[in-house]
Amino acid sequence: MGTDLTRLSAAALADKLTAKEVSSVEATQAHLDRIADVDHAVHAFLQVSGEAALAAAADVDARRAAGESLHALAGVPIAVKDVVVTKGLETTAGSKILQGWIPPYDATLVEKLKAAGLPILGKTNMDEFAMGSSTEHSAYGNTHNPWDLDRIPGGSGGGSAAAVAAYEAPLAIGTDTGGSIRQPAAVTGTVGVKPTYGGVSRYGLIALASSLDQAGPVTRTVLDSALLHELIGGHDPRDSTSIDEPLPALVAAAQQGATADLTGVRVGVIRELQGEGYQPGVLARFEESLELLRGAGAQIVEVSCPHFTYALAAYYLILPAEASSNLAKFDGMRFGLRVVPEDNPTAERVMSATRGQGFGDEVKRRIILGTYALSAGYYDAYYGSAQKVRTLIQRDFTAAFESADVLVSPTAPTTAFKLGEKLDDPLAMYLNDVATIPANLAGVPGLSLPSGLSDDGLPVGFQVLAPAKADDRLYRVGAALEALLENEWGGPLLLKAPELEVAR
Ligand code: GLN
Repeated sequence: MGTDLTRLSAAALADKLTAKEVSSVEATQAHLDRIADVDHAVHAFLQVSGEAALAAAADVDARRAAGESLHALAGVPIAVKDVVVTKGLETTAGSKILQGWIPPYDATLVEKLKAAGLPILGKTNMDEFAMGSSTEHSAYGNTHNPWDLDRIPGGSGGGSAAAVAAYEAPLAIGTDTGGSIRQPAAVTGTVGVKPTYGGVSRYGLIALASSLDQAGPVTRTVLDSALLHELIGGHDPRDSTSIDEPLPALVAAAQQGATADLTGVRVGVIRELQGEGYQPGVLARFEESLELLRGAGAQIVEVSCPHFTYALAAYYLILPAEASSNLAKFDGMRFGLRVVPEDNPTAERVMSATRGQGFGDEVKRRIILGTYALSAGYYDAYYGSAQKVRTLIQRDFTAAFESADVLVSPTAPTTAFKLGEKLDDPLAMYLNDVATIPANLAGVPGLSLPSGLSDDGLPVGFQVLAPAKADDRLYRVGAALEALLENEWGGPLLLKAPELEVAR
């Protein structure tokens, strides 16, 4: 038997493709076989688009054979979160209200993936409209954490993270509004990056909260994230918030980082994102990673971001406010589900019945919250105050970045919890994002990489944050820490994950 193509990093697989040691059809088939073997247990995918993926793979193989110059990741298959629209491929955002909706166009980032020749394996499971931290709010069933199938894979992008952790895909796309790329990465032992706001086009993402949403990579290595980020990022005239500047050199930064020399780099430890509420094993791994960074020449300083204490409260006003407006378009008239009441089916009653049946509880909860926060009598008290807090958080970041090049914290306060454990307690669920939300409120980029196992044997994430438009710093510091940690572990953390039982 040759190499198991599903175990390679995307960069290593890309090298084999470039060297023509393997074809994209073989690599894509290997991942489709893996999905057939394990996804009955993991349920990372809502749709598997095997035929289209193999056709795209055959096309890229033909282009390679004809001597065309191809993108570095050409032929490497990828999974896409179901909140990103894909032409001709059902896109539901994890909601019943969009069941059966086949988009007539591709998101900009999907166009880029297709143009670069990355076969799309399918669409991944998620909390409905990306609201959640466990993927349990999906209308299509739970995704299971490959480390322990009784546990959550994080959310809202649990499907993308689980697919990458279970070797069903070497690469995946996630979206992060309050942590939905980074927190699932943390609890599955994978790497996830939320780019600078405006760094990756939002055209064709089903909006949750437009001022917070960003798409980004989910991978098994820091270099793979840099490769994918460079491919999907950059200016898009179809997104008015897209940054009209070239991206920093992300792959080069990851390569530089891999030498593990951080001489002169100032790493700021955020005082407010540790201590009470954080699992002891999470804090222990965090401290050990800091020691490794120090050993590599980094200067560790403590910074204070006093308003981060209010980030969660501000987020849960701003997000529902924007979501209530963004979700108004799902009314049974334009997309997906339409429920027609038998009795007197006026347009208004159709809309009400469709929304009543089509949306799940968490979505309804947030629409009600958001509508309330935006109502005339309460606008200033709630939404207005939250926006002021948002400004204070942005100022905290600006001040902190005067004394540090990057800021660091644990990604999530705990490791993966049991399925069902927090489902009836929305506030406990919201607390998972306490360390990731400030970056969304300020628009700064963040990366999570595995920093070891907690006492319960489950993965812990380490978060790196950088100033807006300095995403390259995430990759330099992330790749350095990854190299140092893997040196200690003797390889990637995922090697310690239990083998999944294979169906065939
Ligand atoms: N868990 C957060 C929420 O429920 C984050 C969601 C996200 O990033 N999409 O809002």
